[in-house]
Amino acid sequence: MKITKIVAYQVDLPLHEGKYAWSGGKSVDVFDSTVVRIETDEGVTGYGEVCPLGPAYLPSYAEGARTGIAAIAPSLIGQDPTELDVINRLMDATLKGHPYAKSPIDIACWDILGQVSGQPVSTLLGGANGDNFVLYRAISQRSPQEMADNVAMYREQGYSRFQLKVGGDPDVDIERIRQVAANMETGEKLIADANTGWLMHEAARVVRAVADIDVYIEQPCASYDECLSIRRRTTHPFVMDETIDGLEPLLRGHADDAMDVVNIKISKFGGLTKARQARDLCTSLGIAMTIEDSWGGDIVTAAISHLAHSTPTELLFTATDFNSYVTVDIAEGAPHRDNGRMSSSRSQGLGIAPIHKALGQPVLEASA
Ligand code: MG
Repeated sequence: MKITKIVAYQVDLPLHEGKYAWSGGKSVDVFDSTVVRIETDEGVTGYGEVCPLGPAYLPSYAEGARTGIAAIAPSLIGQDPTELDVINRLMDATLKGHPYAKSPIDIACWDILGQVSGQPVSTLLGGANGDNFVLYRAISQRSPQEMADNVAMYREQGYSRFQLKVGGDPDVDIERIRQVAANMETGEKLIADANTGWLMHEAARVVRAVADIDVYIEQPCASYDECLSIRRRTTHPFVMDETIDGLEPLLRGHADDAMDVVNIKISKFGGLTKARQARDLCTSLGIAMTIEDSWGGDIVTAAISHLAHSTPTELLFTATDFNSYVTVDIAEGAPHRDNGRMSSSRSQGLGIAPIHKALGQPVLEASA
């Protein structure tokens, strides 16, 4: 089987809440997503998606994804999309770094491998665990009262894990955590995600001020070393996210006892192939995981569902259903939340079929 054509589409994904806000005053109103279609000489077609969280979150941005795909695509024409490691090595040899640009291509190749083998991607990633898996809801940064109200609203929708976007003014953040925590119910989990937003003295104040509260602290500061310093000053369970983007920081984090949970975003690692490596390493090391991506629509959500569902249940801390945050559907067959939980499709490949009207005309195309 050979790749004959790689096509990309640009899709706008507005939000039901109108705006998503997190640390440092950063926010996004409409997400800029890129969908990749890979065609083959045997008529099998695969789809992938990447959607950075705006240009100021990770070192990734929507136009960069498309420029990166345009740079990589010609080298993949004529290659076998089912040979995932060969494809990944070729992508790395063609373009150094830029894992987010490679992610939708890798996902589309997994979609093809699943269709060719007649298996859902979750089976190829090790097999689905149980009927479904648990989701969290990200609570966009607002006033403490609004965030508490939103937690109550999403609890009504079935969510039991809430990730508060903090990383702002430490005094307000303390109030955000306290106000939401006051109404938490048995069995629920609360995460305060600063998304790198605090300086060390600010993070030190917040973790001390909420020392009596059952809350996870996620990525308080910008650098790994700053986070490690805060980790060593607190007894809160600790999540590392932005600074863990490959196996090396993961191994270092394990050696330093830097975290209890790691956030594995598919595009941060460069696709399902590399995210799976990280997932399997965490599984062997006993590190729990949040499995998600930076953002996305139906296709990213499908990819998340296959990786999350194939992660051992006790090690899957939580996962995300981004397609419920956005107002636009881009694929049929994508998984949807049911009472705060989700399951991956049992259909072959990703189990999705794109809605062509939603994708529009291609913005780039590479073929022989
Ligand atoms: Mg995070």
